[in-house]
Formats: sequence, C-alpha cells, structure tokens
Amino acid sequence: SRGPGSVEAFGPGLRDGLAARMGTAVDLAEALAKEGELFLSYQPVFDLEHDTIVGAEALVRWRHPQRGVVSPADFIPVAEQTGLIADLGCWVLDAAVSQLSQWQRLVGTGFRLHVNLSPLEMRQPRLVAQVVDALDRHGVPAEQLLLEITETGLMTADDGSVPRLEELREIGVALGIDDFGTGYSSISYLRELPVDMVKLDRSLTSLVAASPDEYALTRAIFGLMRSSGLEIVAEGIEEHVQVAHLRAIRCRYGQGYLLARPAGPEVVAALLARRGQG
Ligand code: C2E
Ligand code: CA
Ligand code: CA
Ligand code: CA
Repeated sequence: SRGPGSVEAFGPGLRDGLAARMGTAVDLAEALAKEGELFLSYQPVFDLEHDTIVGAEALVRWRHPQRGVVSPADFIPVAEQTGLIADLGCWVLDAAVSQLSQWQRLVGTGFRLHVNLSPLEMRQPRLVAQVVDALDRHGVPAEQLLLEITETGLMTADDGSVPRLEELREIGVALGIDDFGTGYSSISYLRELPVDMVKLDRSLTSLVAASPDEYALTRAIFGLMRSSGLEIVAEGIEEHVQVAHLRAIRCRYGQGYLLARPAGPEVVAALLARRGQG
C-alpha cells in the first residue's frame, strides 16, 4: 500500500497493527449483521447569508460493546481494506434515506441530506440501483439527496465511475466534492465533472481568515467556482472571524463546530421546524 519500490520487514509492530485491524473487521462485520451498534449523527449545513439550515451531513458512528464509540476515521479505512465498505455504505444510505423520510413533513424545499460515498462504492456497478431502490422504498425525492465524493477519490476513479455519477445526477441526485483543497484538482477539471457542490476542506476554510494574501487568493478561487455554477460549502468553521470573512467573499454555505456539531436527528428536526416558522 506504500507503492512500488517500498520494502518493509514484517515484524511485531506490523503484526500488532494487522491483528488490531483484523479484530476491527471481525467486529464490524458482526455490527453490520445486527441492529443497534451503528448509527448516524447529523451535522447541519447552513446558509450563512440567511442563518437557516439548508441541509445536514450524515456521519456514521459505531458504538462498540467494549471499545465505546469508535470514530469513522478508524473503521472506514478498515472497511475499505476488507471490502466491508460495500455493506457499510448500503447500511448508511438506507439509514440516511429512512431518516429523510421521517423528516418529510418538515423538509419542504431547499433541504438536502449529504451522504458520504467511499471511492470503492463509486466503483460498484450496482450503486445506481441501490440509490434508486433506497429512495423508492422510503418514498423520498431524489432531489433531497446529495452524495459527497472526495477530491482524491474522484481522481482515482475508474472508467465506469463518472458515467455512474452522471446517471445519478440524471435521476435528480445532487453530487458534491468533499475535502476540496487537499488534492490537486484544478477548477477547470471540476467544471468537467457532473457536480453541483464543492466543499472546502477545513484547512482551506481556515486559510480564509489567516492573512490578507490568502484571503485574496480564496476570494479569487470562489469567484471562479461561482462563475462555473458551483455551490460552495465551507467546512470546519470554528471561529466567528471565519464566518465574517466567508460572508464578505460571498461564500454562501457553511458547516462547522461553531455553527453546529454532529448530533442526533432531533437537532436537525428542531432547526427545520424553526425555519418553517420563518
Ligand atoms: P468528512 O466527510 O470530511 O466529515 C467531516 C468531519 O469533520 C467529521 O468527522 C466531522 O465531525 C468533523 N467536523 C465537522 N465540523 C468540524 C469542525 O468545525 N472542526 C473539526 N476539527 N472537525 C469538524 P467524523 O464524523 O469523525 O468523520 C470523519 C470522516 O469519516 C469523514 O470526513 C468521512 O470521510 C468519513 N465518514 C464519516 N461517515 C461516513 C460514511 O457514512 N461513509 C463514508 N464512506 N465515510 C464516512
Ligand atoms: Ca463529507
Ligand atoms: Ca470533508
Ligand atoms: Ca474527510
């Protein structure tokens, strides 16, 4: 996995790491087979201009019987290495769309649930059928679903992935690029992709508030993106000054601990209800 030309001796350190990952994989397979250990947290996405909720991102959590709540940063990579990501991705999609169906009364227009898609899921020919099936079963319009794909995931996509994404977009599902600014894609490349939204990585969001030079640079980047018709969501907003600068450069949407942390579905419902009251 370190690439060609890399040699490493197998020793106790590697063995322990491997054993830990195997343990995680076995437990995760069990968690997928039963109810209750896996659940979703939802982090709201806000319109910074109007201070209203416009969406939420589903983030998977695992309440392990011995280890407590395990971070997705720890088990998603294991799921990807072992192929469990296919079942996990299916579970996440179904749980998210099911939640969306429970919010229907409150949703109205202009709300989207973001679901993260691993690059490996994008390579699966049955992805489109799975998405359509989940939406049908729960009676949710495709327009309320947005799939987030990472910038690096897109760059390593196979030949079938982009047509698959185009197909999803044709049925009305929105697509977004996650972690923008951590890879090497150019804006001209983004314009060729079937995407609606670009999510600025936390590192780029914090640059906005860092220095006047970088502020000017991000403002220029935003201008280019907007003229390409892309919605921009700044993620990882932690400070008030970032919100002020983002508003100044007309970055319309934002997400971050300062605005709302990931939480249970009732928090999103409360925000939606408040928005409904105008
Ligand atoms: P991500 O998609 O980039 O999600 C954003 C992560 O940043 C989340 O961590 C979120 O809790 C955290 N975050 C949000 N606001 C802030 C902030 O203001 N400051 C800081 N420091 N962090 C913030 P989380 O939930 O631990 O997820 C980590 C990663 O795991 C996600 O990164 C995503 O790549 C992956 N992941 C989570 N859920 C899923 C899933 O259902 N499917 C797939 N394929 N991947 C998932
Ligand atoms: Ca994401
Ligand atoms: Ca991200
Ligand atoms: Ca990420």
